Amino acid sequence: MKEQKFINKVLYIDLSKKHSYTEERDDIFRKYIGGAGIAIQLLKEECPEGTDPLSPQNPIIFAVGHLTGLFPLASKTVAMFKSPHTGNLGESHAGGRSAISIRMAGYGAIVIKGASSRPCYIAVHGDKVYFRDASTLWGIKSSITAGRLIRAHELSPGHRTIIRIGPAGEKMIPFSCVTTETYRHFGRLGLGAVFGSKKLKALVVSGKSSLPISDRQAYSKLYDSIFKNATESPLMKKYHEIGTPMNVLALNASNGLPTRNLKASNFEGAHAISGEKVAEGYLGKRLACAHCPVACIHIASLREPYQDEPFFYKTTMIGYDYELIYAVGSMLGGSDVQKILKIIDRIEAYGLDCISTGVVLAWATEAQEKGIISEKETGGLTLNWGDYPSYIEAVKMIIEQPNEFFKALSKGIEYASKIYGGQDFALSFGGNEMPGYHTGPAAHVGCLAGARHSHLDNAGYYLDKKIMLNKNIPPDEIAEAILAEEKWRQILSSLVICFFARELYKPEIVKEALKIAGMDLSDDEIKEIGERIYTEKFRFKMREGFSFDNLRVPKRIFETESSVGLIDEVYFNSLLESIKRKILAMTQ
Ligand code: SF4
Repeated sequence: MKEQKFINKVLYIDLSKKHSYTEERDDIFRKYIGGAGIAIQLLKEECPEGTDPLSPQNPIIFAVGHLTGLFPLASKTVAMFKSPHTGNLGESHAGGRSAISIRMAGYGAIVIKGASSRPCYIAVHGDKVYFRDASTLWGIKSSITAGRLIRAHELSPGHRTIIRIGPAGEKMIPFSCVTTETYRHFGRLGLGAVFGSKKLKALVVSGKSSLPISDRQAYSKLYDSIFKNATESPLMKKYHEIGTPMNVLALNASNGLPTRNLKASNFEGAHAISGEKVAEGYLGKRLACAHCPVACIHIASLREPYQDEPFFYKTTMIGYDYELIYAVGSMLGGSDVQKILKIIDRIEAYGLDCISTGVVLAWATEAQEKGIISEKETGGLTLNWGDYPSYIEAVKMIIEQPNEFFKALSKGIEYASKIYGGQDFALSFGGNEMPGYHTGPAAHVGCLAGARHSHLDNAGYYLDKKIMLNKNIPPDEIAEAILAEEKWRQILSSLVICFFARELYKPEIVKEALKIAGMDLSDDEIKEIGERIYTEKFRFKMREGFSFDNLRVPKRIFETESSVGLIDEVYFNSLLESIKRKILAMTQ
């Protein structure tokens, strides 16, 4: 029997010296599996304490896992860096073809260090690394156009990914994203700004190696069963048919859909922006990340007449999902799908994180409504709920930053509300703008106490269902469940399994798949690895200044009915305190 090929190679790229080298890191790949586990180790090694996130010392780490290329839905790449948005751990996941391309190029991880003195992009074709001049790409108004131009120059056989930034990243806006394959993003926590600070326009990776399997029989059997579940489970079918926007109506019905900066949690326009309605009127195609049979990525087709040529139409393809519809739909009080798609298209072209942008605009609208800011600050703009022409203009100003107000806004609402006021309704958690769940205390505590301040950390919103069923459930029990989920997700994200497949990859399946991939681990060993990664992330956060004592809780979340009714502040604080105690005990 052949020995199973094991990922262990790290490609190090130094942008300052225009130099690259590889190292075989069996030490960390065996101990931490891959993805998030490897990335946090490399981040600790490469990012000196107290590093300015926008300095050359801040490394960018991309990592994939042992199951990438072998099993369905192990399709994500984990990016890790010090976040310019929160000042501590930056972690973001994206699919597309990024993971398969990195693995087929022969790597388990890529570390980008230093900074270029001139705009450049990196092309990694298998074991060859090229530093290309990107002066003519720098300043292009759309990340999509930049991607197309690079694609024309980087013709290479095998799997290829083009990971790039738009104008927001070039301007180092702390909530700028990195786009891959046009419709997928390393969205949150400002990876785009870190690219921009390195004058790095893009990273292209291609590869065409193959992955030999030692136990073909066991492999085929497990593969077929995962594939079958992925294509036949009712939930996966829903992801395929409607995608994540299927959540709009369910959340709206339970008072969990943040509306108009969370002044409400039930939106009268929910039906118009529901996944079903958007699909019915606009769905142009569905796409999948490489090696995923679910294809949950929904792309709308927007057909509009040219201004001066009424019988000529242009068609724009625009990716959408629940978070985008929430952030620039209900959160901005708008239900006109065409207008929502148009603003998504602008935000994507600039390369901003759409969730943060929507929440920032919602705060600014309420701040203007309350007279905290006026047209003097907004440069003559009046921001009204659902007024998309003004919102599109405001997004442009976030990029151009013509005055002090837009300079502050471009740093996010934690920053802007410190200067202008309105903190009670500034909906950021740990410095990151809120996702679309006002389901109860677990959702918000989950974001506050999650390692990356994201709903994806521990799916606290899911645990609110327990509170809905039993209001007397002790906060300590919910805290335990939040922690257990976040620890388990360290395993999934180290194997870079899409979280939509978490029901398919139960612990016993993960164990079996890992064994086929060359790692024979016991249940306890897997559990212990998850705990270790989680602990390491918090150690890094704390090393970089994160403290539970500095967390700000926006008052607004206690004022608006949630899926569990009005959130009890005492219960909320006990839940947060319980998690804090457990995390502090773990990191000591
Ligand atoms: S379920 Fe969707 S996001 Fe997840 S890997 Fe498949 S296509 Fe990508």
